[in-house]
Amino acid sequence: MEKIKMTTPLVEMDGDEMTRILWKMIKEELILPYVDLKTEYYDLGLPERDKTDDRITVEAAEATKKYGVAVKCATITPNAQRMTEYNLHQMWKSPNGTIRSLLDGTVFRTPITIPSIKPAVKSWEKPITIARHAYGDVYKNVELRAGEAGVAKLVFEGESGAREELVIHEFKAPGVLQGMHNTDKSITSFAHACFKFAVDTRQDLWFSTKDTISKKYDARFREIFDEVYKDYKSDFERLGIEYFYTLIDDAVARVIRSRGGFIWACKNYDGDVMSDMVSTAFGSLAMMTSVLVSPDGKYEYEAAHGTVTRHYYKHLKGEETSTNPMATIFAWSGALRKRGELDNLPQLVKYADNLEDACFDTLNDGIVTKDLVNLMEGVEPKAVNSADFLHAIRERLDKRMA
Ligand code: NAP
Ligand code: MG
Repeated sequence: MEKIKMTTPLVEMDGDEMTRILWKMIKEELILPYVDLKTEYYDLGLPERDKTDDRITVEAAEATKKYGVAVKCATITPNAQRMTEYNLHQMWKSPNGTIRSLLDGTVFRTPITIPSIKPAVKSWEKPITIARHAYGDVYKNVELRAGEAGVAKLVFEGESGAREELVIHEFKAPGVLQGMHNTDKSITSFAHACFKFAVDTRQDLWFSTKDTISKKYDARFREIFDEVYKDYKSDFERLGIEYFYTLIDDAVARVIRSRGGFIWACKNYDGDVMSDMVSTAFGSLAMMTSVLVSPDGKYEYEAAHGTVTRHYYKHLKGEETSTNPMATIFAWSGALRKRGELDNLPQLVKYADNLEDACFDTLNDGIVTKDLVNLMEGVEPKAVNSADFLHAIRERLDKRMA
């Protein structure tokens, strides 16, 4: 069979530990036999980041800006223990943080769902995607402990000399206070990324804040979303999808009663909390995909989980591991499908569909990695190691590609 040709390279960002092992296996077993893979390769493994003073991460982000689509393996964010383990020059910043700030992107997380893994919420039939605004609010706050009675004020001094001052509270006794901010620019980028992703995936977009209480701060988020929506309204109407705003409490109630199949855009803190709740309710971290979308439509696909360090140490000792490669495979299929769509390569799009379907065939046949065994209902699961799991997918992919 002739391999599927690509025209534009995919930005490939390699990573660390167990996911780096899986990365190579996935390419060799599931991609290279079918696709004449064209990538621009960046090694974001920790040794290479250290060797290049982390320039490699910036170069990978720049390449993503240039080509538009990237696929990324999980990477270590170093801490004190990693400093000694890898003999590092510096405690390098999180690559995901670096890439996200260079692309000014929003992260969308979606669970991979199968019929035999039932979500904790019975009505959910389709995945729910959470879009979390990743700038500001409580994550960039300043806080103060007021140790005695006194007045707390909010003061803004404009460059023009304009000045606004509000009393926050007249403390009669000790207490606490906090200042937060956000910017129109960041909220606007977030809104664009959300509307683009909704159009892209043909799903409704929900956005929730607490603007009945926060009449300026949260209200500004709502206003910006309403404003940006005007650019996408005709696309939404053409596709028959809907944008709606609702209060966060109403959104929570509706999400639980829903059948799934939509995007829920959340402010930073809401997104932090709700994404953990939604992903846990859907089943397993190993089945959670993630894509970073920039406001100008650049895409970086990855798995939501980390480098699975515990399994890697077992692997180094020569022990067999049963690490789940699903989210990493879906990062590849997502990126290749997007490349295919942008370059008008229907065969590449079809291949990406077949690859995902072959994964579903495998799981539906009960062949799974260990992490899924206790979650399955209605099929008798057979736990296999990572290599055998990939072989099983390969067999089914061969049939679908024939
Ligand atoms: P993790 O790698 O996601 O793993 C946490 C635990 O979740 C694992 O020990 C494993 O549980 C389970 N798990 C996660 N993915 C799995 C998979 N594919 N198959 C089977 N089980 C899976 O998180 P971590 O241990 O907190 O972090 C490890 C390293 O990853 C850290 O250095 C961190 O900086 C990095 N990290 C990177 C990213 C990223 O690049 N996007 C994200 C998060 C963390 P059991 O051990 O019980 O089997
Ligand atoms: Mg969290």
